[in-house]
Order: sequence, then C-alpha cells, then structure tokens
Amino acid sequence: MEFGFVHSYETGAAVDGPGMRFALFIAGCPFRCTYCHNPDTWEMKHGKRTSSDEIIEKIAKYASFLRIAGGLTITGGEPLTQPDFVHEVFSRAKNELKLHTALDTQGYLAATLNDDWFAPVDLVLLDIKIMDPGKHLRLTGKELQPTLDFAKRLNRLHKKTWLRYVLIPGITDAPEDIQALADFIAPLQSIERVEVLPFHNLGIHKWEELGIPYTLKNQKSPTPEEVRLVQSLLENAIKRN
Ligand code: SF4
Repeated sequence: MEFGFVHSYETGAAVDGPGMRFALFIAGCPFRCTYCHNPDTWEMKHGKRTSSDEIIEKIAKYASFLRIAGGLTITGGEPLTQPDFVHEVFSRAKNELKLHTALDTQGYLAATLNDDWFAPVDLVLLDIKIMDPGKHLRLTGKELQPTLDFAKRLNRLHKKTWLRYVLIPGITDAPEDIQALADFIAPLQSIERVEVLPFHNLGIHKWEELGIPYTLKNQKSPTPEEVRLVQSLLENAIKRN
C-alpha cells in the first residue's frame, strides 16, 4: 500500500478526459504557471496524507457508473510529483475496478519513470504551455524540453494523447508559437485530439487567499472565435489521411 498527498477529488467531472470522470487532484507541482487555476495544489503540504486503499475505496463506490460513463483522471497539481502512489492508484483502478484511466500532466518529471510505469494509463492529457523555450521559462519557471521529450516518448509508446493548450491573448497566441506547436505535433501519431482552452481569471481568489501576487489581473480572455481559429489550425496539423 502506498501513501500520497491528495488535495481533493471530484466526482462527475466532465472536462478531464472522455465522459464523466472521477478526478483526483494530487498535491505538488514543480511549475509556477502565471495563470494557474489551482495554486492551492502547488505544495505537497497542501494535500492530506491518504492511503491508496482509501482512494480506491472511494472510487469503487462509483465504479459501476464510471465503467460505463467515463473513468478515472488523475490531475493536480502535477501527478508525477508522487509517482509511486499515482502508479498504484492507476494499477488498481485498471486491474481491480476495470476503469478507463487518464493522466493529466505537463510531463516535466516523466524522464524519471520507466516505460512500465505508463502501462496502466489509457490516455495522457498532455499540457504544452508554449513552444518558445524562453517564454516557457517565464510562464512556468521551468524548461520546456522535458515536456517535448515526453511527447515524443508517448508517440514511441503508442500511448493515446490529447494535447491541451491554454490560449492567453498576448502571451500564448503569437502566430509563430502556434505554428511551432502545429509543426511539432504534426508527426506525432499518438496525438488523437487537441483541446484549446481559453484563459480565464476564475482562480484569482485562490491567489489572493494564498497571498501570492497575481500578475494577470487585467488579462483578457480570448474570444470564442480566437479559440476556434487556433483549435482548427492545430486540428488540421494532426489530421491523418
Ligand atoms: S502545471 Fe498546472 S498545476 Fe502546475 S502551476 Fe502550471 S497550471 Fe498550475
């Protein structure tokens, strides 16, 4: 039995993977994205020490519904900050509860894990924050390359991947950055879907509660048309014949 620091969980989440999901939020993240909606998950101490038995018991209550309607998504924070715990929950959800499993990650820590670690993961929701290394560093506090290496590795492993990209006017919407992303994903056969997510300010109260300065207070959200444009450009990039 493994123990991990769990921030929270939600039943019936409809946005993190196919269908209705049991979403498990893991505490801890090495990134400090300026637009993060969940700064209250950044530190391990933001979570509650929980056993894998406890989590599996909670998920099991909904398993018969989730088997038909969706599955389990582990998100955060960054799930790969607690790989042993997350791997055990995925393995048991897959083998004992027969659930579809999805990992929501930016992949920064994936190089520390061997390929077997990913065996009980059906789908990876991969967050690429921006394709310019300098902008990535400014936006997240960390380097871009590990995420790109992970995307290529998922392709080698034939692991189904949904790419997620947060569109922020004036920050992540430069045509050259969108084009670089389209060029990067075009040869990756594992990417079966793209989700462009509009930036919004909804997490701002969490920053205020934590007393962390929030620099995007006056940042605009993209229009639905801007989101559609980027979405269709990236969808075209992964269109297979
Ligand atoms: S990777 Fe996700 S959880 Fe971590 S800081 Fe960025 S948006 Fe927040």
